[in-house]
Formats: sequence, C-alpha cells, structure tokens
Amino acid sequence: MKTNRRNFIRTGVLAGTALGIAPTQLMASSSEDLQLAPFKQAPLPYAYGALEPIIDAMTMEIHYTKHAAAYTKNLNDAYAAEVKNGQPSLEDILKNSSNYSMKMRNNGGGHFNHELFWKCMQPSGGALQDGLLKEAIQRDLGGYDQMKNKLTEAAMTRFGSGWAWIYLDNNKRLQIGSTPNQDNPLMDASPIKGFPILGLDVWEHAYYLKYQNRRADYVSNWFGLVNWKMVEQQYETGWKRTL
Ligand code: MN
Repeated sequence: MKTNRRNFIRTGVLAGTALGIAPTQLMASSSEDLQLAPFKQAPLPYAYGALEPIIDAMTMEIHYTKHAAAYTKNLNDAYAAEVKNGQPSLEDILKNSSNYSMKMRNNGGGHFNHELFWKCMQPSGGALQDGLLKEAIQRDLGGYDQMKNKLTEAAMTRFGSGWAWIYLDNNKRLQIGSTPNQDNPLMDASPIKGFPILGLDVWEHAYYLKYQNRRADYVSNWFGLVNWKMVEQQYETGWKRTL
C-alpha cells in the first residue's frame, strides 16, 4: 500500500474532523517553525520587480524595506521592554496580545502578517492545484470561485486599513474574514479567531502607487499572484497548532 505524507495527513484531517480534535500525530512537531526573538525579516523570496505588472517594484521595495521593516524593529523594541520572563514566541505574544501594549499588538501583528504576506505571493502564481487545500476549500468554502468571492468581499468591506484572511478556526475548518489595522486571527482581542493560512494586505501602502483608490482592481489582480502551494503548507502547519 502506498503511504505518503499527503495520505497520512488526509487521514488525520478526516479523523480529527470526525472527533472534533486535532490528531496527535499532527501536533507532535508544533514548535518547529515558531518565530522567536529577536525577530528578523526573512529575505524576500523574489526580486522587488518580480510581481510586475500586478505589484510594481517600487511598491514592493518600500513595503518591504520601510513599512514591514519598521514593524519588525518596533516589535523587537516592545519585546525587549515588556517581556520579563521566558522567551515567548511571536504566536504566544499574539495569542496573549491583550496582556501587552498596543505597540506590541500593532507591530507583532505587523511583523507576523507581512512575513506571511510575502510568502503568499509568487511570480506567475494563481493556480490552485489538486490536493488537501483544494479539498478543504471545496468542503468548507464551497469551492474556488466562492472562496474568491468571499475573500474579495472581505477585502472590499474592510473599512480603512486592514487585512483579509483565510484561516483555520478552532474546529479546523477554513473560514474567511477580515481584521482592522495589523490585527490577525491569532490575537485574543480579535473577533475572528484561528490560524491564518493566507493574508491579503489591504492597507493603501500595499497598492496605492499603481492602483491609487482602486482597491477592487488590486484585489482582483492579486489572485494572479497567490502561491497556493505555500498556502497549503500553512494549512498543514495550522493543523499542528493548538488553537
Ligand atoms: Mn503592509
């Protein structure tokens, strides 16, 4: 019998869904990719201009080297000032964000969200391959087209600055929603709670140079950049987390 990682995880997903809990096999290595202080920006996995024409090079450069870099620096400053005991991971901090300052919440979210955002994109992305994630999108969100419509609606109805998300809820079901500012579903203060597997930045700094006020065009085009293979990996990571 052919047993591979995908079949193993699918079996685990089905078992976990039936029982309403995450299978222990998938929780065993939950700490493998937690972010620990001091926090650093991962290198951008492509050149600034690689996402053209959907996102222009200058927007990417300013976004990565100025906006996102500032969140990372300010997170490290807040962490040094506020964490007195132990070495909580970034996820630990976000899950207890209400116990920390707004500086920690805004910049911890800002760092986490952007690190995910860069990975969610790739040059010539956009195709959702057959696999675990596609099956979950079909099961929980009604398929690709409905998912796209719901995520677009979440992005378009987020007033002001914020994020649209696909996330795993506490029952390990995919959900779509949005958060203001740099909040995300990991935060105890967030009305939507779970593990983010895809984040779409709808702050104007993400699109204004090319799209000005046309958020709808940015969001529509953005689907052509999505690295669904990475999103599927994030989905698997979410399964390992205790939420
Ligand atoms: Mn941003």
